[in-house]
Amino acid sequence: MIPLSVPHLNGNEWTYVKDCLDTGWISSAGAYVNKFEQQVADYVGAKYGIACMNGTVGLHIAQILSGVTSDDHVIAPNITFIATLNAIKYTGASPILVDVNSTDWQMDLDLLEEYLTGNSFTIETELGTFTFNKSTNKRIKAIMPVHVLGNMGDIDRLTAIAKKYHLDIIEDSTEALGSFYKNKHAGTFGKFGVFSFNGNKIISTGGGGVMVTNDEELAKKAKHLTTQAKTSQMEYIHDEIGYNYRLVNILAAIGVAQMEQFPDLLENKKKMDAFYRNELTGVGDIVFQAVSIDVSVNCWLFTFKTNHMRGLLEFLNSNGVQSRPFWMPMNQLEMFKEDIYITKNNNSSGIYETCISIPSSGGITKEEMIEVVEQIRNFYLTN
Ligand SMILES: *Cc1c(COP(=O)(O)O)cnc(C)c1O
Repeated sequence: MIPLSVPHLNGNEWTYVKDCLDTGWISSAGAYVNKFEQQVADYVGAKYGIACMNGTVGLHIAQILSGVTSDDHVIAPNITFIATLNAIKYTGASPILVDVNSTDWQMDLDLLEEYLTGNSFTIETELGTFTFNKSTNKRIKAIMPVHVLGNMGDIDRLTAIAKKYHLDIIEDSTEALGSFYKNKHAGTFGKFGVFSFNGNKIISTGGGGVMVTNDEELAKKAKHLTTQAKTSQMEYIHDEIGYNYRLVNILAAIGVAQMEQFPDLLENKKKMDAFYRNELTGVGDIVFQAVSIDVSVNCWLFTFKTNHMRGLLEFLNSNGVQSRPFWMPMNQLEMFKEDIYITKNNNSSGIYETCISIPSSGGITKEEMIEVVEQIRNFYLTN
């Protein structure tokens, strides 16, 4: 079976993990944690990086530090991996789900702007200027764009909308390490960006995350909150309810080794993307995800649309090519059925019905890609 997406561990992973084991530094303190978070921050061009257990908890902490409470709304796209929405629900806030574009599968900013224009009001208070939802009277505190599949939407416009309505931007850039918008890295446009190093992401620590920010105060608070909010080196004194969310050294050691190989892996991904796009153009009814000229995409997971998605999925998986459908849209999940969903054409549903992801590991070989393409072509001979 050619796997969908598996880690590529061909560098110093063994050496660094052995170092942790040999020295006993396996837990949440240790040089690799600091090194890894700085490496990620440096790569993306952010001032500070805060390592955490995974991307989901990073998104949770970012919202807490943004002041999101259970009285608030947080805006998110309707097409995303569940973790985005789970993190919003952990804060008690109510999501406002926005349908996505049919072309690039990112949040539809026309819909968003239209909604905010008609359904919100802004007031100045002693604590700041805030936007409220007319129908729920809840404050709309933050917007969480998701760079779906490492692709990015119109970030200039999103930033302008956020500014106009006083929304904090927290980027779910968990899939977007290596992606840039106008030469600026994903995750650096708002208050926080969050990266994930889960097993299927572009590089992996097994499980892990890094939050990035340019704000020193927020960075300090993020480290504090993720380490049980302890105020003293020696004594067990804590000044708020904290979390045990810090990444452990042994996993960060893998991360350091992964970051060393990342530029090469990213090159491979881009070659893979170019190969698939070239070989699959005009095959069956395949339509690719649109990418704006402003975006340099990391090509994390190759995904395309076809009206024969279910049939192709079954065919590939039974012919040695692991493939997967896309995420079920959030508004269709039981837990979010009561939440606000802004849409006109329900593009989300169409994307869900037609999108399929095919093998995209960083270490995928030419032979494997040729086999994947061959099987896809075979399928369309009779479909
Ligand atoms: C992977 C992912 C996350 C969560 O990251 P974890 O490290 O797995 O917790 C969040 N949002 C999206 C869009 C993701 O793809």
